[in-house]
Amino acid sequence: MVIKQLSEVVKNNPDSIELYLALGNLFRSQSDLERAIHLRQTIIARPNLDPKFKARAWYELGIDYKRAGLIDRAIYALKQSKKILGNDPNILRVLATIYAQSNDFKQAVEYYEKLGDPIAQAHYLAKWSKQKQDKEKLHLLKRALHIYIGSPEAWLELLLTNWKDTKIKEFKNNLEQALSNIEKDINFTILEGIYQEFKKSTESKLNAFIWEIHNVISTINPDILLTYYNALFLLLIGEEDKARIWLEKTLLLNTNFWPARLVLLKLDKDKQSLPENFRLHLDFFIEKASFVKKFNCRRCGLKREVIFFICPRCSSWHSIAFRKQLND
Ligand SMILES: [Zn+2]
Repeated sequence: MVIKQLSEVVKNNPDSIELYLALGNLFRSQSDLERAIHLRQTIIARPNLDPKFKARAWYELGIDYKRAGLIDRAIYALKQSKKILGNDPNILRVLATIYAQSNDFKQAVEYYEKLGDPIAQAHYLAKWSKQKQDKEKLHLLKRALHIYIGSPEAWLELLLTNWKDTKIKEFKNNLEQALSNIEKDINFTILEGIYQEFKKSTESKLNAFIWEIHNVISTINPDILLTYYNALFLLLIGEEDKARIWLEKTLLLNTNFWPARLVLLKLDKDKQSLPENFRLHLDFFIEKASFVKKFNCRRCGLKREVIFFICPRCSSWHSIAFRKQLND
């Protein structure tokens, strides 16, 4: 309905570029990309068009193409707009996003540098480093940490590299540095990342690495999540008694900290001789509880099972939180 009316107005005001652009955006919002694209092209083809409008039309065309999944054309159109407007932050941001989404991290890093966004720069340097090996990889991670020393994604990648290369001394030093440089409320992300990797491992070096983690965490002021992860790591190497002590510690810090209670319940259950029915019910709830999503976004509340550094829903950086209470 709105489109029909606006189309009429546009027909009666063929010189109003603003209206044309608005109509195009309306088509795009209705996912009628073909018509949106056609409209922009009509505007761009106009002779004697004010460069300001031409730049706008190229920009909107770039967004249309991006939405249509035509990445090369989107980049071309946005660069045409950039030719007229220069380093306009809106254009740079869309280009950075396109490159990031198409795994061209080198370009993404360049555009985020132009935008003066060190968090994003470090993030994509860490992603880029995953495509590289050895010296090149370490070089990219160092660059990331030089740009933003609080980048959990760069520290995590560096620690996992140390683990793969069995560089235990570097691992310990980097873990200490990481935990003192990453914002306190998100430093659990590196432990979660390491934990997921260690969980899959059957290598004998696991013991030595986990004791180093234990040593590092033991010297840090009590923090509920670091304490909790310390216990999880100890369980990976069968140190149940020690793990229990650390789990109990988390409950002293916060009696509602459900993940520790769940682990303790599992450990205790196996020690009891329970009536068959009771055990079945208990197993059912323990199983269900282990599916509770552990993380959420502090901005938009999105709940996730795996860690994220940029929220998949609201695109906030480093807004992840660990759901310490069931109603978080
Ligand atoms: Zn969010």
